[in-house]
Amino acid sequence: MAYNARQARFSNPGRRPVNSTILDPEALVRRAETRWADIAAAQPDLIPAIAVQRPMVFRTIRLVDRLRIEPPVLQLTRQRMADKLEAGHPLIRGEAAALPVALLAPLVLEACDDLAAGGAGEVARRVRGCIDDGRVDMGSLLAASFDRNQHAIRTKAMHEGIAPDVLWLAAELAAGPAAHVAARTLLAGGAAGPGTVTGARDRWPHGYCPACGSWPAFAETCGEAGRLRCSFCGLDWPARADRCAYCRDRGSRPTWVAATPGAPARAALCTGCGGYLKWLEPAPAIPFELMAVEDLASCAVDAMAAGRGFGRPPLPNLGGPDRLPCQDGPGARRRREAAATSGLELEPEPDREPPDAGKGPGDVDAGGGAAPK
Ligand SMILES: [Zn+2]
Ligand SMILES: [Zn+2]
Repeated sequence: MAYNARQARFSNPGRRPVNSTILDPEALVRRAETRWADIAAAQPDLIPAIAVQRPMVFRTIRLVDRLRIEPPVLQLTRQRMADKLEAGHPLIRGEAAALPVALLAPLVLEACDDLAAGGAGEVARRVRGCIDDGRVDMGSLLAASFDRNQHAIRTKAMHEGIAPDVLWLAAELAAGPAAHVAARTLLAGGAAGPGTVTGARDRWPHGYCPACGSWPAFAETCGEAGRLRCSFCGLDWPARADRCAYCRDRGSRPTWVAATPGAPARAALCTGCGGYLKWLEPAPAIPFELMAVEDLASCAVDAMAAGRGFGRPPLPNLGGPDRLPCQDGPGARRRREAAATSGLELEPEPDREPPDAGKGPGDVDAGGGAAPK
């Protein structure tokens, strides 16, 4: 087997390695097919959604496998990573990433096609047509998605008269795997303890992802503890069952509800901010490539939470990429140059503020940070 050499675990002493097992693509495909069969048998109404999801998951599996042998898109010193994490700044935000655009671009286009076939129809075809015509620059689109710059993508879509949510989702289906591999590469190995990258990640107190700044797609329970899983890059970090992941409101403990009595998948509802977070009990842990499958499998929990008036907040307001450190560095310059040639509009030059984990959904920018479905 060509992939056996990669079937290894990263060494992260003192930390539960939720998603640190690298499975080969064939094993991932088998596991996905098994899960889809289970889901279809238990929830036949999800069969059309599985059909839409299948090619996207297969592409993600192939892309992640390919990206592992590509040069790193981002290189940061351990000291810089530790400093950023201690300051509450996600690692890949505001950095100059050398994305393999030629490798990622087909996934954006194919995502548009899948979304068109899956019900988005002409709306998704118009997004693809806009990209095909060169009115949206692929490199700038992917860079903005990687940097979680929703404002730039939304503004460009509005200027072009295409659906912002479709453009955002199509881009993140390609950029997400790149962010996953980048975060995993950055965080692989290293010592634990105070002042280290691993230690800072294990003490990360925020609800947003320490790698990319997105909200979690869900939490995975493990005994008494839990790990949050990023909706964009799939990274895991410590979860708090006694506190809302979004607003961290200490005054209102989450209310726990299940879609059906006794079901392992539950939702933590926060009356403080109106947000909810799914808590899943996977066995074994969910690989990044299959997170969308488990998200779909547990969609009854989403429906139940939505039916009670709870929602998932938009991307957290971390001030936009240009508010983060190195705003005058090569990353910021490169983004501005790319934006100037592509028509993508970057966030206005703002005041510098640290990210605020205490902000609730009512304080965040408009848009959506949902996991790719
Ligand atoms: Zn992330
Ligand atoms: Zn809350």
